Amino acid sequence: MDTEAVRARLLRRREELERRASSAKADLRHESDPLSADFAEQVTQRESDEVLDAISESAREELRQIQAALRRLDEGCYTDCAVCGEPIEEGRLAAVPYTDRCRNCAEGERAAGPRRR
Ligand SMILES: [Zn+2]
Repeated sequence: MDTEAVRARLLRRREELERRASSAKADLRHESDPLSADFAEQVTQRESDEVLDAISESAREELRQIQAALRRLDEGCYTDCAVCGEPIEEGRLAAVPYTDRCRNCAEGERAAGPRRR
C-alpha cells in the first residue's frame, strides 16, 4: 500500500472540508479567513470547535475520521481493523480511505445497530 498517496488523499480531503468550514465560518461572522500555504499545519493548530461548529455534523464526523486515519497512518496501524485487528481490505480503504474497520466488522456493526462495539 502506498501510504504516502493515502496520506496525500486524506490531507486533500481534510483541506476541502476545512475550507468549507472556513467559508461557513466567514459567512457566519462576515470575516475573511485567508489561509497560508502551510495549510496542513495550520489546520492542526486550528482544529478547534469554533471552526468545526460552522460546518455540518456529517462533515465534522468525516473530519474526525480523517484525523484518526492520519494518526493511524503515523502509528503504522492504518490498515488494521479497529475492532478485530485483521487487515482492512485494500478495496475498502480505496473506497473509504478514513475507515477504521474491515468490511465484516462494518457490516456486523450495521446489523447490530449504530455505535455498538
Ligand atoms: Zn474487523
